[in-house]
Amino acid sequence: MATELQTEIPSGRLFIGGEWQDAASGKTFSTLNPATGEVLAEVAAGDAADVDRAVRAARQAFESSKWTTMSARDRGRLLYRIADAIEARADELARLETMDNGKPLKEARMIDIKESIDCFRYYAGWADKIEGEVLPVSGPYLNYTRREPIGVCGQIIPWNYPFQMAAWKVAPALACGNTVVLKPAEQTPLTALKLAEIAAEAGLPTGVLNVVTGFGETAGAALVAHPDVDKIAFTGSTEVGKIIQREAAGTLKRVSLELGGKSPNIVLADADVDAAVKGATMAIFYNTGQACTAGSRLLVDEKVRDEFVEKLVKRGAGMTPGDPMDPRTRMGPLVSREQLDRVMGYIEKGKAEGAELVLGGDRPDVNGGKGFFLNPTIFDRVTPEMTIAREEIFGPVLAVTTFADLDEAIDIGNRTEYGLAAAVWTRDVGKAHRAAHALRAGTVWVNMYHALDTGSPFGGYKQSGYGRELGRYALELYTQVKSVWVNLG
Ligand code: NAP
Ligand code: MG
Repeated sequence: MATELQTEIPSGRLFIGGEWQDAASGKTFSTLNPATGEVLAEVAAGDAADVDRAVRAARQAFESSKWTTMSARDRGRLLYRIADAIEARADELARLETMDNGKPLKEARMIDIKESIDCFRYYAGWADKIEGEVLPVSGPYLNYTRREPIGVCGQIIPWNYPFQMAAWKVAPALACGNTVVLKPAEQTPLTALKLAEIAAEAGLPTGVLNVVTGFGETAGAALVAHPDVDKIAFTGSTEVGKIIQREAAGTLKRVSLELGGKSPNIVLADADVDAAVKGATMAIFYNTGQACTAGSRLLVDEKVRDEFVEKLVKRGAGMTPGDPMDPRTRMGPLVSREQLDRVMGYIEKGKAEGAELVLGGDRPDVNGGKGFFLNPTIFDRVTPEMTIAREEIFGPVLAVTTFADLDEAIDIGNRTEYGLAAAVWTRDVGKAHRAAHALRAGTVWVNMYHALDTGSPFGGYKQSGYGRELGRYALELYTQVKSVWVNLG
């Protein structure tokens, strides 16, 4: 508990035009600590009126000379300062993330916050390298292109990596010269508010980054519908992604979508079994399975299945859930009661449809049952038609299916409406590349899982969305190209 005392909880007010404000309606909602079920803070429930104020502030900032005349190099320097400020407060941010989201403190610090610092530094470096071209057109003309910012960007993010998702969205948008209205998830609004505070202290001009906390159906929907928002960047469920694409059509905003997944993790008979068992365990149980790239479908060659499942169950059993502040904890709670109920519903469906429960399926005795904890769960003998093999569960529930050869593994792997990630474990370099090319997913890992780097693109095929975040690809999301003609005649 001592660690919590060192962490200042944000006031829970909206950050609009450089000022902390209450929602116009005066309404608030509670954000909980999922490890205890207790209220952590009251947070402003922003809605259409607040979104409108934030969009006006972002528009004004987009047109203000402070932002438009700031050199690209100075913009980069500002982003470096934000990265440094995040780094200086990394421990505090990690604790706040753990309290609001429930993920183990060590992971919050060494993954979420560390990767966010990296992300700001990476895009700081890009700010003064966003170049146009001179094109060899016919006639006595000079023709060149400029990569210009899009304008006011509405960014809507989920609860599974709250601070990191904010960094992935905000850093490239600012590097390209846009302004932002950020809407964090209702379950985890606190670290986004800290980011606004840190960015302002680092010298980001007023109105360039605004944060409106609130619900998706009100604050989120208002942002998507607002006529003065030029672009929506969204990470979340495929279901909401479809709503956003539809609603954005009214004003023809640019849209980029990072949605759900049901990623196949394929183990061939020649794989290093121990390494693959370790990888498969991490692939599904990391972040309590609440990862859009979770390796939720394990496809194992039938020849190694018995050995593999036995070792997997043994290793999975070691992922005991516990207090996320405790450094020994390997797995935290689910983010909310609602998410726990959803995941339990899938476990019941798995049993009812005839899959064999070989690990977990029940709740551990942690914190007197007050938190939203669930044991690591593995189902064996899952067929591709079963609900737990088709739908994104977003919890620590693994579905194991067998196959006879590589072609069948690829066929089952691709039998999904999603296409976010996939992995293959093999010592055969030819098979590895064949699988990597044939799997219809935005990321394919070979003999590894969950690797990410700020420099490498991330995004979906099929109904996992479109647009690529990270790397130089994100610059495409936050710039538009202008062609300038000059008559030399
Ligand atoms: P979600 O409903 O898609 O929420 C993502 C974000 O969109 C949140 O900020 C949410 O606000 C907002 N939102 C909801 N409805 C909206 C609307 N009509 N217009 C504009 N914005 C809207 O996801 P969730 O409820 O957090 O989780 C549900 C499922 O989504 C999960 O179980 C999982 O399957 C999937 N998911 C995927 C990812 C991923 O990274 N791909 C991440 C999280 C969840 P509120 O939170 O305030 O409602
Ligand atoms: Mg919370």
